[in-house]
Amino acid sequence: MQTVSCPGCGAPLEFKSHASVMAVCDFCRTVVVKDADAVRDLGKMAAVLEDYSPIQIGTSGRYGERAFTVVGRIQLRWSGGIWNEWYLLFGDGGNGWLGDSAGRYVITLQRALEVGWPVFEAIQPGREMETGAGRYIAAERRSARCIAGQGELPFRVGAGWEARVADFRRGSDFVTLDYSDGDRPALYAGAAVTLEQMGCQLLRDDEAIKASAGKYRGRVESLSCPQCGTAIAYLPGITASLVCQACRAQLDAATPVVQVLAKGEEAGRTPLTLPLGSTGQVNGRETRVLGALVRADDEGNRWTEYLLHGGGRAGFSWLIESDGEWWRAEGMDEWPAEAGAVAVRHDRVAFTKLYDYPARTEQVLGAFYWKAQAGDTVRVAEYQHGPVRLSSELSDEEFTWSRSSRVAYDQVRLWFKLPAAQGGATGAGAPARVTRTGRFLLWLVLLNLVPLVLHFSGAAPWVLVGLLALALPPSFIGKDRQ
Ligand SMILES: [Zn+2]
Ligand SMILES: [Zn+2]
Repeated sequence: MQTVSCPGCGAPLEFKSHASVMAVCDFCRTVVVKDADAVRDLGKMAAVLEDYSPIQIGTSGRYGERAFTVVGRIQLRWSGGIWNEWYLLFGDGGNGWLGDSAGRYVITLQRALEVGWPVFEAIQPGREMETGAGRYIAAERRSARCIAGQGELPFRVGAGWEARVADFRRGSDFVTLDYSDGDRPALYAGAAVTLEQMGCQLLRDDEAIKASAGKYRGRVESLSCPQCGTAIAYLPGITASLVCQACRAQLDAATPVVQVLAKGEEAGRTPLTLPLGSTGQVNGRETRVLGALVRADDEGNRWTEYLLHGGGRAGFSWLIESDGEWWRAEGMDEWPAEAGAVAVRHDRVAFTKLYDYPARTEQVLGAFYWKAQAGDTVRVAEYQHGPVRLSSELSDEEFTWSRSSRVAYDQVRLWFKLPAAQGGATGAGAPARVTRTGRFLLWLVLLNLVPLVLHFSGAAPWVLVGLLALALPPSFIGKDRQ
């Protein structure tokens, strides 16, 4: 360890790692560069955006048998949101990176690049490719901009520094090819990890995260729509797209004064079963409904996907409402492997392919950590084994896997304290289907009733009774079921 005085404010500044070439002063944010035995002042670094990560400088943990401490951080922004690269110093003097994106973590170590790496532009998400460290599935290809840095770092970065990176996965193995310095990438290889696996110490707790998140705005976790005044729940700092659930105005919350980007359209409103901004207790953890995507396939089937946030350590998850069924979904860090043309293998189990279809986003409501937009289209493939489904989603930029399992509506109702009986199309689908059948029968009876009424038949009152009998059961069934 080497301690120097900050040229900006005189505070002591530690370089814990020999590999570090720069450090950002905690007090005055001066970028200090080590040059031989001297230090130089490279100006000020932008402050990091306090996001919802429980990791902080000083957090310690393990990667396999090796203990590490977090000594630095780069924060980057791309169209998919913001992520952190935490710089790790291992107890044995080595170093590595902990990638931290929307609550998912990977640890990578730099390795010598072998032959066979792909050209950046040729990387296609979803494809198996030679990476220079073996064959992996391309997960993401992105250009990102560094927005801030903190602590000590092994190379000089500043706000505006551009990174071009591609990520690859195989099972839980992970590879990043970093093309920021040119066409020959730097290779980082490692694995997906969880906070539990790393046995992290000195994490920020939920209260600390809440208190500092989106420092630009203080503690606000909801804002008023400038268009209609409705309160909108969002995550300060990491919200990339925001649409008022009431008037559909598109808002920009990145500036101190919330701006209206576009007025909303009235057409095609889908009522939401889970109110945006509401909180529930999901498996004992306070969970907030942040956003809803209404999506449709090429056959006209529509469903709603709710984005949930369960605090710093739980991160994001989804509840999907589809034709009366509810599914709880989470992103997967350990990817399934292909097992023949119509199956994938995960956890030593074969999942059989159910469907393969395009999913188009029709409506975006509430807050998302990436730029969600109506018209976004992905290719979805679903696989099933017992009550569990695995789904892959493919877009031009990203290939992802998620795992979902059925949840009874009663469970969802308990979590979010929803009313026992739901009305109409927003209801838990099965009753909605019954209602639709009921309406059809009613229509048939009315058709039959017309000649009877026209001929003043004495049978008309009895037909009316029959009609009532037919019309009533759907609502009774609906109540019984819920
Ligand atoms: Zn200083
Ligand atoms: Zn509004």
